Amino acid sequence: MSNIFAGERAISLPSLFAALPVAVVLVDRDGHILAANPETTALQGQPPEAVVGRKVSEFHQDAARNLARDHWFAEAGLNIPDHEMTFAGRPYQVSARPLRDEAGVVIAFVVSFTDVSRLKRAERRLSEANRRLKARVWEDHLTGIPSRRYLDAALTREIRRARREGRALSVVMADIDRFKSFNDRYGHQAGDACLRSMAQAAVKVLVRGADELCRYGGEEFVAILPGTDLAGAVEVAERMRRAISDRAVPHEDVPSGHVTISLGVASLPVADHGSHRDRDALIAAADAALYAAKAAGRDRVAQAGDDGSSPRST
Ligand code: GH3
Ligand code: MG
Ligand code: MG
Repeated sequence: MSNIFAGERAISLPSLFAALPVAVVLVDRDGHILAANPETTALQGQPPEAVVGRKVSEFHQDAARNLARDHWFAEAGLNIPDHEMTFAGRPYQVSARPLRDEAGVVIAFVVSFTDVSRLKRAERRLSEANRRLKARVWEDHLTGIPSRRYLDAALTREIRRARREGRALSVVMADIDRFKSFNDRYGHQAGDACLRSMAQAAVKVLVRGADELCRYGGEEFVAILPGTDLAGAVEVAERMRRAISDRAVPHEDVPSGHVTISLGVASLPVADHGSHRDRDALIAAADAALYAAKAAGRDRVAQAGDDGSSPRST
């Protein structure tokens, strides 16, 4: 391509260079600036005529090294990878291409600088939003404790670990007594506040680092207790029951006159079915025990039988 014409009129290369909408610099092999277009003013705060003839190393501490590397890629016949440089506090994507003579020898580089600060900001916002979204999936937004999804993942992991290490593992399932009528009487907002308060109270009795309380469903919570056998878990469950009762949140539709919970406790081993079915079997055993606690009058702890099937209340 020798000349570019707009109708009859030729467009000169210098006028094209000056009008480019991105910052472009021509640099010789030794790093001398041969030409710079007006857009480069934003990079250094100096007009093109003030930078031509000077070496790139005067303008950025990484410039000489970057150019040497670009040179290496060009000589090797490889594409020059883009890189990032900061000018006046703003990130730029820097793209260099070699200019060669007829013999193919690299005689200069044309280098463009694209301001990517808006892109970077958008990227940061997106990854921040992603992080928050992820956190929301793992956390129950009402009570702030780990969610059902977290429970499923954590329990599967803990069951595997318990089997591998031959250690005990127990779960406690807790359910607020007559919570439907609490909502009916005091309203859903009071119900939500009660759930938050119950979660806080129950979390406090879990003193071992590995213990975790998760929200299982509406007004049901599950505590995972690694390294704890059935007898130990029953003790923890009893502490949870008392902690809730001690808050003495008024509830006129239960015999005690304040909010209480019923709890079901179950432990490994349940029959080894592979980790997912193990998890379901352990939860089902705790749920059956919880059902027994409800049937026996509520505000109490029941434990699964040794075979995980026939619960009895304590
Ligand atoms: P039981 O003693 O047998 O457990 O009786 P219950 O009324 O607690 O049991 P049921 O499962 O019939 O009712 C659970 C109620 O919990 C239903 C609903 O009103 C309430 N609930 C579930 N999730 C929420 C929630 O996120 N916020 C509020 N405020 N209430 C909830
Ligand atoms: Mg329930
Ligand atoms: Mg309930």
